[in-house]
Amino acid sequence: MRPPHTGGCFFPHGPWTTTSPAHPRAAGPRARGRGGARRPRASEVDAQALWPAHSMKAFAEAGLMGLQVPTELGGHGQGLVALSVITETIARACPSSALCFGMHCVGTAVIAAKASPHHEERYLRPIAEGRHITTLSLSESGSGTHFYLPRTRLTQMEDGFVIDGEKQFTTNGGHADSYVLSVAPAGGESAQAGDFSCVVLDAGTDGVEWLQPWAGLGMRGNSSRGLRLTRARVPAANLLGEQGDQLWYVFEVVAPYFLMAMAGTYLGIAQSALEATGLHLRSRRYAHSGDALADADVLQHRYASMWMAVERTRGLVREAAARGDAGHADALPWILACKADAGDTAVQVTNDAMTLCGGVAYRENSRIAQMLRDARASHVMAPTTEVLKLWLGRSLLGVPLL
Ligand SMILES: Cc1cc2nc3c(=O)[nH]c(=O)nc-3n(C[C@H](O)[C@H](O)[C@H](O)COP(=O)(O)OP(=O)(O)OC[C@H]3O[C@@H](n4cnc5c(N)ncnc54)[C@H](O)[C@@H]3O)c2cc1C
Repeated sequence: MRPPHTGGCFFPHGPWTTTSPAHPRAAGPRARGRGGARRPRASEVDAQALWPAHSMKAFAEAGLMGLQVPTELGGHGQGLVALSVITETIARACPSSALCFGMHCVGTAVIAAKASPHHEERYLRPIAEGRHITTLSLSESGSGTHFYLPRTRLTQMEDGFVIDGEKQFTTNGGHADSYVLSVAPAGGESAQAGDFSCVVLDAGTDGVEWLQPWAGLGMRGNSSRGLRLTRARVPAANLLGEQGDQLWYVFEVVAPYFLMAMAGTYLGIAQSALEATGLHLRSRRYAHSGDALADADVLQHRYASMWMAVERTRGLVREAAARGDAGHADALPWILACKADAGDTAVQVTNDAMTLCGGVAYRENSRIAQMLRDARASHVMAPTTEVLKLWLGRSLLGVPLL
């Protein structure tokens, strides 16, 4: 059984291949039919920094949790188009839910990329059945946005591995059933060279301590928490791929799936802000003239610019995802660009929405205010906007990315 992308070679110029259809329609009636009309409790999620268990349950009931699990294992075997469309759809209603779902999908894609029979039975089948949530835990305070340089150490023992180190910002932290960690081999400075492996850590493993609960400016429901690992034992079977598969995982799996999940999420926020602004411009009327805001030339002009930004980004995201799914030889720059562009658009459009919707939007905890705060996370989530533009320029100029 091959995962959707193992045939591809993303770095430096290989094709991306997928066995999956390039449209979420192919996810089948189970994914389309149920749960779609639910209205998430986005305000409550934001106000209480509530991890959206209700949303994750709804996604499981709708059969969506196995989006990235191969069909042979009961999943949908989907690729990047489906991921970006679904995260966009979720984020239009609840960005934190989209982030939690997206990171589950990225973690799933990493497990599926070189899955052994053990990984298939222990993780992928339960994920497809909606019984298991996973997530990706790469970031560390020591390397920040340079997430491919972990210092968390993996030490080989006779009967498996022990892990020591500290992760930061783990979405779904404390709620997932498993965590896909990046780890460096112990006993050397090889982490400087980006030498790491991926390993799955089960929730409840001894030696795992969750740090402060998440209290962010935005994306307040994603439970993005620090994780301290002190001689945490994992079975040898939980290693993903071969030790030192680092660049393959970063560029073939983590980058495309993460960037597409996030591009969809931030596009969804921008779309939602656009819709809320349109509604406000049409409905707000002055008592003295009877005119609506929508009658003002300048506001018509600014609204047009917002629409153009959203549609430009959507076009880029769809094209990038389609190229990735099709294994297009030049998918790389498109995929690098789409999260950076979606972040820029989300911040710009939510900021414009805040201006155009006036004092109502500026009130504490307004929906626009929440979207603006949520959108801001895009630029600091690694690979950050700065780093993506750097990599994009390098890839276009034929300069090595790292
Ligand atoms: C809501 C949220 C959810 C997250 N979820 C996850 C998750 O599920 N899993 C996970 O592993 N991580 C996650 N992260 C972590 C995230 O991906 C980043 O690793 C983290 O935000 C980096 O923060 P930092 O302050 O250490 O960045 P720093 O490395 O300190 O960077 C600060 C700024 O400097 C810029 N910068 C740094 N170096 C350069 C350079 N060479 N060139 C140009 N600019 C540079 C960066 O782009 C950034 O804008 C999450 C973060 C957030 C905010």
